[in-house]
Amino acid sequence: MERLYKLSRLIKRQLLWLLPFALVGLLVDKFWLSLSIGLALAVAGNLFYFQRLNRWLWDSRTMLPPRAKGAWSDIYDGIYGTLRRAQVKRRSLALLLQRFRQAAEAIPDAGLVLNADGTLEWTNKLAQIYFGIRWPADKGIRITNLIRYPRFHKYFEAGNFTKPITILSPIGDQRELELRFMPYADTQLLLMVRDVTQLSKLERMRKDFVANVSHELKTPLTVISGYLEMLEEGEQLPPQMMEKAVHEMQGQTKRMQRMVNQLLEISRMELQDKELFSKRVVLANVVQQSIDELAQSIQEKKLQMHVALDDTLSLWGDEDKLRSACMNLLTNAIKYTPEGGMIRVTWQRIANGAEFSVEDSGPGIAAEHIPRLTERFYRAESDRNSATGGTGLGLAIVKHALEHHRTKLMIESKPGQGSRFGFRINQALIAS
Ligand code: ADP
Repeated sequence: MERLYKLSRLIKRQLLWLLPFALVGLLVDKFWLSLSIGLALAVAGNLFYFQRLNRWLWDSRTMLPPRAKGAWSDIYDGIYGTLRRAQVKRRSLALLLQRFRQAAEAIPDAGLVLNADGTLEWTNKLAQIYFGIRWPADKGIRITNLIRYPRFHKYFEAGNFTKPITILSPIGDQRELELRFMPYADTQLLLMVRDVTQLSKLERMRKDFVANVSHELKTPLTVISGYLEMLEEGEQLPPQMMEKAVHEMQGQTKRMQRMVNQLLEISRMELQDKELFSKRVVLANVVQQSIDELAQSIQEKKLQMHVALDDTLSLWGDEDKLRSACMNLLTNAIKYTPEGGMIRVTWQRIANGAEFSVEDSGPGIAAEHIPRLTERFYRAESDRNSATGGTGLGLAIVKHALEHHRTKLMIESKPGQGSRFGFRINQALIAS
């Protein structure tokens, strides 16, 4: 297709065309006239092909060039080849652009391209969702008109993009967005936006958690170090005081130990795979064993126990976690029920599965505390708890253990009317 047209070849062709006219002219003794006719025909032919080329280039919709002869056929072919190459290049560019757009849609972040003056050039769909952009209507709008926070305005106008900025989503859905500007292609700016709501929440939780643990450990340590100082100073302490100090220190040490063990238990539960339904658990046995372990405290407080456990009822689950959940609920009931009180423990079939519950005749809980009881370190009444040595972690463990069985802790309680804690197991997890 590609043929470089040499001038010598063109001249040769023209001379070959004129040769018969020259010969005939010589024969009939009209050399110049015949040559002129030959030249005129050549010019007419060129004009004809030139006009065809003109039409083909401007009017025709087809890529194929018109048929031609001689040098013109090579010229048409040359132009056709150039057009073909341009078309192939255009197609591959369009494909590349399409791929780029698909890639930009596939990334989990929102992306926007801004011009040097901060006007919008392009966005992916996620960006349109995050910022409520109407596309393409909003093309050309300044980013500071889309995100109208004075803090963002200042940040953008300052033009120092070494650190990202975090803002609340301008469409008011409480999403926290981290914006990172990257200059590119000399004048344009690429803006990548990430939803960091969950990350910020986790970060806050981590900070709260560290603060809580520090606080919870500080209290017993202050008590212990106070007693130790007292013991160091006065050898002449009366024996009752001595006894009280040792007793108090033991109590606080036990509380710290319990807290550390419970924290370890929570983190173990968080780390474990959710391999839920591998074992058949006869919950009645698990609960009975827990009650037996707690027998001493039950006797000491002279509690009346009403236990009704269906031992024909088993479920698919994680025995250790279920044991932990039941043990914590039983311990709480015993801990918070005053001497001579009553505790009713049941495990029975219900309409769509089975239900475990621990009911007590304890002091009950005010409604405002109930939704927060499963938060780590949350305790309803601190006075009551300091006496019981509670850590506020028991129900957090129960919540975790139950989540593994796709169920929630149920709490029914009213001040002065006792409490009922329990959970329901879905029929799908019932083994028999
Ligand atoms: P704690 O170690 O303080 O008992 P939990 O997480 O087990 O921590 O319980 C959280 C809070 O819920 C307790 O501090 C207590 O105020 C309240 N609570 C739990 N169980 C009972 C109950 N059976 N009767 C009354 N209050 C309870």
